[in-house]
Amino acid sequence: MNEQLISKIEKLKKQLNAVILAHNYQPGEIQDLADFCGDSLGLSVTASKTDADVIVFCGVMFMAETAAILSPQKTVLLPDKFAGCPMADMINAEQLRVLKKKNPNALVVCYVNSTAEVKAESDYCCTSSNAVELVKSIPADREIIFIPDQHLGRHVQQRTSRNLILWPGYCTTHVLITETDIQNAKAEFPDAIVLAHPECSEPVKDLADQLLSTGQMLNFAEKSNAKQFIIATEIGIIHALKKRNPNATFIPASPRATCPNMKMITFDKIIASLQDLRYKISVPDEIRVKAKTSLDRMIEVLPTK
Ligand code: SF4
Repeated sequence: MNEQLISKIEKLKKQLNAVILAHNYQPGEIQDLADFCGDSLGLSVTASKTDADVIVFCGVMFMAETAAILSPQKTVLLPDKFAGCPMADMINAEQLRVLKKKNPNALVVCYVNSTAEVKAESDYCCTSSNAVELVKSIPADREIIFIPDQHLGRHVQQRTSRNLILWPGYCTTHVLITETDIQNAKAEFPDAIVLAHPECSEPVKDLADQLLSTGQMLNFAEKSNAKQFIIATEIGIIHALKKRNPNATFIPASPRATCPNMKMITFDKIIASLQDLRYKISVPDEIRVKAKTSLDRMIEVLPTK
């Protein structure tokens, strides 16, 4: 059954000159089908460099928006228009404008997990892998508003000793991983190394051996001599970790760390998306140009990792 669906997708892809991107948190079968897997910014940059006319983004809305910001001449499709990101939706452009008015001297650094209109209101964009370096690159006497993730923000505060103005946003999936989950996993697998994403809560991060973005986790596991890893991030990454490191064991810190939005994409929805060119995601030019500036400033300061 899956083979039939996959060959239909391949055929449609060729007809449309399309490329399929899958975020590291997508279901394993979608990752296996994709032309490129990775994090949201890396995927959007990669897709912008291809000669594809159509980008199918297997991920959530802000990711498809980011691809549309970087590739305005391409058709960007999100196979399920309801696949959103609760964290990205925790701050809108109006709320950010109010925050900027209250802190008129502050620069705004926004995590890539944000809407296009919020990126457009920001000075710099960042990812979980370069947030610390990006904040370090800003002169020490400048105030900084960091949005929307308070947990990534606290991680940056800790690593830079900077006092950031934080927004109380959070990832509804990462906060489901608890301190007890990590303690239990460590008790069961005492030799395992704990890799946690900076979006996790502070008590979880305090118990981790390494705080890494998804891309950094993949690199770390590949280079490490360790054979067991407890993984404190969305469960989809386990598929990519196992694929790249078949001789190591990856233990999910919690089975609850499953992002329902990331699991909304299916083969059938990808087929419908390619057949009917739906759901087209585009960003109005006045927002797109400003949002791209905040992404460009990040890339200028720090080449994409
Ligand atoms: S895992 Fe968290 S940050 Fe990522 S899409 Fe889901 S809710 Fe948003």
